[in-house]
Amino acid sequence: MLNFSEEKRTDKAEIIRLLSLDTHSAEFYELLAESEAYARRTFRRGYVFCQVGLDSNPCPGNCSFCSMAKSHFVVGGRFTRTAEETLAEVEKAITPQVSDLFLMTTECYDKEAFLGVVKAVRKAIPSSMRLVVNTGDFDGTYAEKLRESGATGAYHIVRLREGTDTDIPAARREKTLEAIASAGLDLYYCVEPIGKEHTYAEIADEILRAQRLNVKYMAAMRRVGVCGTRKEREGEISSRELAKIAAVAMLAVRPPVSMNVHEVNPVAMLAGVNQLYAEYGVNPRDTETETSRGRGYSVEDCVKLLAENGWEVPCL
Ligand code: SF4
Repeated sequence: MLNFSEEKRTDKAEIIRLLSLDTHSAEFYELLAESEAYARRTFRRGYVFCQVGLDSNPCPGNCSFCSMAKSHFVVGGRFTRTAEETLAEVEKAITPQVSDLFLMTTECYDKEAFLGVVKAVRKAIPSSMRLVVNTGDFDGTYAEKLRESGATGAYHIVRLREGTDTDIPAARREKTLEAIASAGLDLYYCVEPIGKEHTYAEIADEILRAQRLNVKYMAAMRRVGVCGTRKEREGEISSRELAKIAAVAMLAVRPPVSMNVHEVNPVAMLAGVNQLYAEYGVNPRDTETETSRGRGYSVEDCVKLLAENGWEVPCL
């Protein structure tokens, strides 16, 4: 039997022990059951977050797994959406069941222009819809400007092997995490992009970071071997493995609002996942310029899968 305690914070040794479970064992199902039970006790509803990618440009972040990395750019076109164009994309993408709208850019997007986009989108969407930025690194002053422009949160992480598989030092990512906290923006965290090469100790370190940051919106994402990227042939983890990592992350971090797996994955829903992403525009895991015609799931697809798993997604 696995022993779980709500009183004690799960430490690194315990996280590694749980991550090491055989995904065909009885203990694997016990782990999923415990994670699912936490979700049912804690989460009030299902959530669909909607992400719109604003620009497709060779990015100096140069992440080895991303379709837009400068050293192997493999997206079918280049563009930078203006505020006006972004509004048109957002209008097409969102429905009343979207609770959180994410605006994603590469590191190429002009920072001042992005503030203008955030302001324009904030004015155009319902006041109850949270507006989240997923952009390059920034300092405390810029974080304040994002908040003043109408952003309520930021998706920001230290990626697995940051600085080795990317051209971005982990310390720069950590500084941005501090800026997000100091500006009072909500942090959306994720352990990603998980591939076959990552050890359980590395995965545990990112789960523990989320635990320290008291993350309310947690996620786990597997790496996709996008054709033409430097990670194309490194191998993808299985759906069962992703479900296991999501369950361990859930129990170690105990997010109070939501848990996600990415990309959408029916098997991983068994860990009690109550939040999924619909995706539009360009996407680091796709070579299509419009991911809703490629790998991206629609809002309707996400609502359906959540409902099948017992999570109703109310309208705003
Ligand atoms: S993942 Fe983000 S930072 Fe990295 S290359 Fe892609 S767009 Fe740039």
